[in-house]
Amino acid sequence: MKLGVGKKPAADSAPALMRIEAIGAVADRLEAAGVEHPQDEARALLRGAAGLTRLELALAPRAPLSEDESRILSDYAARRAAREPMSRILGERGFWTLDLTVAPGVLDPRPDTETLVEAALSLVAEKRDALLSILDLGAGSGAIACALLSELPAAWALAVDISPDACRATAANLARCGLSNRASVVRGRWAEAFQGRFDLIVSNPPYVRTEDIAGLDPEVRLHDPALALDGGADGLDCYREILRDLPRLLAEDAVVLFEVGFDQAARVAALLAAHGLQIERVARDAGGRERIVAARLAPLST
Ligand code: GLN
Repeated sequence: MKLGVGKKPAADSAPALMRIEAIGAVADRLEAAGVEHPQDEARALLRGAAGLTRLELALAPRAPLSEDESRILSDYAARRAAREPMSRILGERGFWTLDLTVAPGVLDPRPDTETLVEAALSLVAEKRDALLSILDLGAGSGAIACALLSELPAAWALAVDISPDACRATAANLARCGLSNRASVVRGRWAEAFQGRFDLIVSNPPYVRTEDIAGLDPEVRLHDPALALDGGADGLDCYREILRDLPRLLAEDAVVLFEVGFDQAARVAALLAAHGLQIERVARDAGGRERIVAARLAPLST
């Protein structure tokens, strides 16, 4: 077992480590690298490397690792020690009730974005079974579109992204979730290339201030694409760009939801209001930060 700890054993004669020992060795290595939950992550990496469910590992913690499993685990441990996110190493992330593929070059979906899904579903609760049309601008991995379609059985979605990698990832996740028949994926810059009116418009655009990118955690800075993070000098460039097209995209009684940076809700709300929308709700993420701004067309004053 070559986990980079202790002396290197003679290659052929080294006895195979038991799963539980391998987990301990990986956890030590991750802890030394400053990873916050080394035990949990070591366990998850072992399960990924050996293709085990939680139950299978719990039932046989003392089984020996095969050579292949050792090699894969050793690679995973090195990558995690270098602060590659777990979701990228394992190629997968749980989002909402779904298991999504996390593709290289595409933003890793975050739990924060589940707050957008939750707020959207609550705002269309009375129309749950209606033929809702959804527009997801900057779809990335397709997480939002997949989650909404999975909860709204008669809805249809158009997912747009400028990145070909993101378009492929969205299409793959829709297929993985069995939702391709109710969605289309289009490559384009926001809504500039198409017309239509939508009942639910959602977006998690890049919103990090350009100058803040260098200070992000290595998991984000080194592994999420800058294209999906960089929101320009004040972080709000993409909202402005989307809002230019928004009025022509709104069906009657449409709802718009934006994910925003932790200190941007008031400014994004002001931008929405300046485009004739009225703020319906500002929702907080699990960390208590204002993360989602939801709006509707303001009724015409008489
Ligand atoms: N949530 C990401 C981060 O700050 C940013 C994603 C985005 O810009 N939409 O880690």
